[in-house]
Amino acid sequence: MKKHNFYAGPSILSEYTIQKTAEAVLDFAGTGLSLLEVSHRGKEFVAVCEEARSMIKELLNIPESFEVVFLGGGASLQFCMAPYNFLEKKASFLDTGTWASKAIKEAKLFGEVNVVASSKADNYTYIPKKFEVPADSDYFYFCSNNTIYGTEIREDPHFGMPVIADMSSDIFSRPIDFTDYELIFAGAQKNLAPAGVTLCIIRKDALGKVSRAIPTMLNYQTHIDKESMFNTPPVLPIFAALQTLKYYKEMGGIPELQRRNQAKAELLYNEIDRNPLFKGTVTCKEDRSIMNICFVMNDGKEAFEEEFSKYATSKGMVGIKGHRSVGGFRASCYNALPIESVQALVDCMQEFEKMH
Ligand SMILES: *Cc1c(COP(=O)(O)O)cnc(C)c1O
Repeated sequence: MKKHNFYAGPSILSEYTIQKTAEAVLDFAGTGLSLLEVSHRGKEFVAVCEEARSMIKELLNIPESFEVVFLGGGASLQFCMAPYNFLEKKASFLDTGTWASKAIKEAKLFGEVNVVASSKADNYTYIPKKFEVPADSDYFYFCSNNTIYGTEIREDPHFGMPVIADMSSDIFSRPIDFTDYELIFAGAQKNLAPAGVTLCIIRKDALGKVSRAIPTMLNYQTHIDKESMFNTPPVLPIFAALQTLKYYKEMGGIPELQRRNQAKAELLYNEIDRNPLFKGTVTCKEDRSIMNICFVMNDGKEAFEEEFSKYATSKGMVGIKGHRSVGGFRASCYNALPIESVQALVDCMQEFEKMH
């Protein structure tokens, strides 16, 4: 039976990515060697890394003033690396969930942290909107898509100061206005590649301004200067990332991805809102994520949760269990997920409705 992969991360990759990566594991670029056993400094892999970085710039229309690097350590390393490099005195954070609060915790090791607003008291079921960002903040930090709670901020903020964003779970799902950003980072395992690499997009002239000494490996400048080759980069994830980027380009780039993602989200949210057995968990509809779609059994229907879960599994749905802090269900509809998978889930929900 066909499986429909709704895992939140690591998550679905395009068939193209998996096929090309599998081929390269057996014979990389005609070298007669596996991608797993070649030097990262060999000309074949250096070309892969360069092409991946330049395709990211092309697809996202990244201005010349930025550089793209691939790092290890996951998105979580960025929670300390960002303040290490950019926080001199004080930074402002929007607390929209687990990932934002982890970033807040790390930043406190480096300076004053000002949380401008938080929806924690309501289990992060919406994005706080009324808040002010003190003008003396070194930067404003936010997480654009809250993977666990299913909320998303799709507007690039402008507060007259630099902005840092964790876009781990919605990068490449929409165009980005880079005007105010100094750093955007994204762990690869949601929309780009297997786990192991983190994409960082850094404004070059924003670096070198903090007074503290930065360890070499944690200094963005090191990786910019060495074009992601200061030490051994995650070779296989970078190769896979390039395949995903080619697949994105072939499909029509970011505008087409955005169109498809919106169509998928609309299809599923319409069913959640229509079907009396289910309800969405995000209280403000405009805050609903188009990437991670969270829903639970409707009031009075809670007892059907286990049964629906089993039914959906029997129909090929994989990874729709909600995060333990939200419960219910979460369908992650990342870039590589075809609309047919969303339709299959919707069919499941409708069949289940008829059964009850
Ligand atoms: C998954 C995720 C992370 C953590 O990524 P790691 O690579 O596991 O460190 C951080 N932020 C967001 C928004 C995520 O979805």
